[in-house]
Amino acid sequence: MKDQNCIFCKIANGDIPSATLYEDERFRVIMDLGPATKGHALILPKEHFANLYELPDEIASEAFVLAKKMVTKLTETLKCDGFNIVQNNGACAGQTVFHFHIHLIPRYKNDQVGLTWTPGVLTEEDKAEILASFGR
Ligand code: AMP
Ligand code: ZN
Repeated sequence: MKDQNCIFCKIANGDIPSATLYEDERFRVIMDLGPATKGHALILPKEHFANLYELPDEIASEAFVLAKKMVTKLTETLKCDGFNIVQNNGACAGQTVFHFHIHLIPRYKNDQVGLTWTPGVLTEEDKAEILASFGR
């Protein structure tokens, strides 16, 4: 299924040109137009799913296997020092395009990418509440 108003549907299905690194029946991998670092790429499913909650299990599994392949090849090409895989769900989590995608972000020693946070403390209350919701 495609969404007429979705830019990533158009890119994934080739209706808008993109710098495509890889393509198969289900996915297109493109270079991000606003890269965090050199080589930042995006995995786009060709079908429209707004986010991870909507993504079918089969596509979720294939997407992660593809992420592994792309990261391996990109690391060789770019000679980067590490990689972050980032996947935002919801505006408050930084999602700006509401078509599921996975960011592949090459990391270089001393780059200026800010993906870190200040660690909090796992309280007994939070731990008990969340474990209970898993029946533990
Ligand atoms: P997110 O904030 O997780 O929704 O990520 C959206 C990403 O898509 C950002 O990193 C943008 O730079 C990137 N982006 C938006 N429009 C395009 C486009 N037309 N081609 C390539 N990348 C895009
Ligand atoms: Zn879409």
